[in-house]
Formats: sequence, C-alpha cells, structure tokens
Amino acid sequence: MIDIHCHCGKLYWDPEIKPELVLKWMDANDVRKAALHPIENPEETVYYVTTWYILEVCEQYPDRFIPFMNVDPRRLQSDASVPFHRIIEEYKERGCKGFGECMSGLYTDDPRLQAIYEACGKLEIPIIFHQDSLRTRDEVGLVRFEKMIRKFKDTVFIGHGPGFWPNISGDWEDLQQPATGPVTPGGAIPRIFTEYPNAYADISAGSGYNALTRDPEFGYEFMERFQDKLFFGTDICHTSQIEEDRIEHARYLRAALADGKISQQCFDKIAEGNALRVFDIE
Ligand SMILES: [Zn+2]
Repeated sequence: MIDIHCHCGKLYWDPEIKPELVLKWMDANDVRKAALHPIENPEETVYYVTTWYILEVCEQYPDRFIPFMNVDPRRLQSDASVPFHRIIEEYKERGCKGFGECMSGLYTDDPRLQAIYEACGKLEIPIIFHQDSLRTRDEVGLVRFEKMIRKFKDTVFIGHGPGFWPNISGDWEDLQQPATGPVTPGGAIPRIFTEYPNAYADISAGSGYNALTRDPEFGYEFMERFQDKLFFGTDICHTSQIEEDRIEHARYLRAALADGKISQQCFDKIAEGNALRVFDIE
C-alpha cells in the first residue's frame, strides 16, 4: 500500500513524530511507501514543518518516503503575481511529487491559490486539498472547488477534510456540523467525480473514514464505483495515533476486501494503483 497523505515532525503539543516511528507503523501495517506533507500555512497546526525538512527526511529513506511540497499562498507581496511557478518548479526538481496539503485560511478560489493551481497544472504536480470552515473554505456543495476544477482542467485536484467529505451526501446543510448517518442521493462528490476527470479524493483522516463508514453499504458501493478516483491515506499527525494503534484506514480496506465487499481490482487501485498512475512515483 502507498499512504498518499502522511506527516512527520513537530506539528502539535505532543512529541515530535520521528520518521522512524512512521516507518515502524508502516512496517507493522504493510505500507511500503508514504507521502510526507509539509506544513507551511499558519492555520494548519501549532508548528511549521518545512518542505526543506521533508526533503531531508526523504533523502534519508528514499525507498520509503515520497516528498510533497507546500507553499503559503501569502508569500512575498501576497498576491497572484508571486512567482509560484518558479518555487514549485524548484521543489519538483528536488524530487517533490505532489503539492499538499493545500490548507490556508483563504477561500478555495482565492486568486493567490489560483496562481498555485495554474502552476501545478503546468508542472504536472497533483494537489491534495484540505477543506474545512477555516481552511480552503467553500460552500456546501463544493461550489468553489467545482469552479476551480472546471477552470484549471490540467490540474489534478484531490479533495479531503471535514469541509469536503460531507458532500458525499445530498443532505448536508451546515458547514459547522459533522455529517453522520445514512447517505442521501444528490451529493456533490459523486456528481463531480462523474463529470470531471481531474477531480479525486483521498480517504485519509477521520473525515474520509467517516464518509466511507457512516453508511457502510453505501461506502463499499462508492469505492467500487469510483475506484479510479480514490487514494489510500492516513493523515497521521499525532504520535498517539501510532502508539495507540488508532489508524483504521488500512484495516478497513483490507477487511472490505477479505469480506468480499469490494473487488480485488478496486482494492489494488485505491491501495496504490491510483497513486502510481496519477503521481510520478514507482
Ligand atoms: Zn494532513
């Protein structure tokens, strides 16, 4: 399996997540590679984890870790004329395979973010997004996200987070409220997946896991139907998640396969085939 959404370093008040601790978790869960996302926006966590630090960690363990890049859209003069293309190109040349997670205290269609989307499209760097009521904000129904995937057709957008996943269901109304219970028809995510080739999602964190498990049979059918659109990920961001064995995503996918709820082909694509296809990794 390839975990497309993982973290290491000092993020919160709890101890630093040492790369070796992540490797231990990966070995115990048969995860062969993990993409490490830097933290470069002040709204993301308590501390910063720079792209440079992530590159150093990945250089130590090149067979296990995949470096992602992150750029705060408010760099320099904080407008759309910032040379994002140049920054992203330099990180790409140093080995970064994705942009993420895109998680700043701006609206999803902010002009500064649009400059980043455009550069990532030209440089063929997929973007993993985090949306909630503070970061990369949107309306119910992913109105701004849809505007962006339509405008930047060459850019791969991978959604995630508590402002994104509740849109799997048609009945979500309140951005401040978590979404639980049976999924109803009419959700923006199934529609967007059907209409736009450049829209994807990762199943990481509580938001992704909840979206797939809140209505179990719907979740299995959703994975089978959109098996080309989903990536396995965890969003490990606390040492306690590893120490207390609280990361369910790999177990959930393997159990779904073992119980005959999803096909082998569906499992293989979500577990790592889509990552190999969409990102430039081996
Ligand atoms: Zn994350």
